Amino acid sequence: MNELSGLPSVEHLLQTEIAALLVESYGRPLTLAAIRNTLADLRLHHAYQKTLPDNHDILSLAHKELMGLTQPTLLPVINASGVVLHTNLGRAPLSQAALRALESIAGSYCTLEYNLDEGKRGERTQHTESLLCRLTGAEAALVVNNNAAAVLLALTALARRKRVVISRTQLVEIGGGFRVPDVMKQSGAKLVEIGTTNRVHPADYEEALQEQNAIVLHAHRSNFRITGFTSEPELTELAAIARNHNTILVDDLGSGALLDTARFGLGHEPMVQESLAAGADLVCFSGDKLLGGPQAGIILGRAEPLSKLRHHPLARALRPDKLCLAALTATLLHYLKDEAIWQVPVWQMIAAKPEQLKERVERWKDRLQGLPSPYAILPGLSTVGGGSLPGETLPTFLLALSVPQSNRFLSYLRQATPPIIARLENDQVILDPRTVLPEQDELLMDLLQQTLQTYQSHNLKSLPT
Ligand SMILES: *Cc1c(COP(=O)(O)O)cnc(C)c1O
Repeated sequence: MNELSGLPSVEHLLQTEIAALLVESYGRPLTLAAIRNTLADLRLHHAYQKTLPDNHDILSLAHKELMGLTQPTLLPVINASGVVLHTNLGRAPLSQAALRALESIAGSYCTLEYNLDEGKRGERTQHTESLLCRLTGAEAALVVNNNAAAVLLALTALARRKRVVISRTQLVEIGGGFRVPDVMKQSGAKLVEIGTTNRVHPADYEEALQEQNAIVLHAHRSNFRITGFTSEPELTELAAIARNHNTILVDDLGSGALLDTARFGLGHEPMVQESLAAGADLVCFSGDKLLGGPQAGIILGRAEPLSKLRHHPLARALRPDKLCLAALTATLLHYLKDEAIWQVPVWQMIAAKPEQLKERVERWKDRLQGLPSPYAILPGLSTVGGGSLPGETLPTFLLALSVPQSNRFLSYLRQATPPIIARLENDQVILDPRTVLPEQDELLMDLLQQTLQTYQSHNLKSLPT
């Protein structure tokens, strides 16, 4: 009890020069709370300590706490995982033009809902929407917060208290809690499952549409493939069936490519233009998957059903913000100017040729010469991810590091600033240049060098001799 009273008071500590600096950086209330907390901690653990901490010790502990409290947890990382659309890492990195658009809009007032010609209220999403129509030939377009919202809005506005016919081949869970059947339930629509897990026939749709008040949902399987004894009608055939029954076909494309992925040695990801041409009444897809833009849900199609979505009360709750629209418009302009392949990072990564990646990874290896860990260049595979092109891969070249306790080394890489996300393969630490932004190469090599050195010195200390 006696010793505890040896700790200085909060008031006393606050009068020191160090505390003044802390108050300047972190504000008085937070600094005060951190000092109080530090003192409480010290009192709690005091019995175990031999000497009383001095003012300086106490304030550095408080400083540590303040740094922890104010350190953002949403941080940029270097993605060396080789997964182009990594949902956990924020999917698509934006183009330079999209970044400039964000910068110019974010800190200023803007024409979000303002018509400059007439000097009165304008439509929030109108600029983006006319671009989308031009690019895809759609009659009308609507942008919402993400694709899950797009599907929810479409089903709520068109099929609430009605039936939605969907094939069992498409009742998928996308990840992150998006299950097609659950979204359908949420919309108030009644789910009508047809066909079997591997096969569905036009007659199944015909039969389900005999009853009135049903629409048809077609959903991309996204993250898995069914192979073998399978069958599904073509989208054109589905569209014809829906039309004959005077109803609507909604196509949830998931990723929704505007460019043909087959050009890059991948399988063919269904394209937005194709779905519209096949006769889908509404097509929806994500803004931050293969489009390579910000998180958004894009709905395209015929004007009449789309206006029901636009005027549904839910649309207001799902509307995109000005930053989304600024970045999305800039991204779409790359497609309009036919420069998406070399301006949109996602497409640059997909289009990168194995020879180019080999050159890059050789430069990486050269930079690491002289470090003791054995490192090698190996041929390997990158994936697209983001629920597009399941099972499809792109040939690449990898930097492979053989370090002791490779899993532990991965965690060292994650503690770098910025963190480096790599993967393990056959107990080796693997870094894929495909998903590392070229301007991050130098930084990555510096960090890798430092991390290897730190790791080695820690390991030497801890290894038995
Ligand atoms: C990814 C995906 C979604 C969800 O899209 P978000 O933009 O993440 O909300 C919905 N449907 C399919 C088929 C998908 O692949």
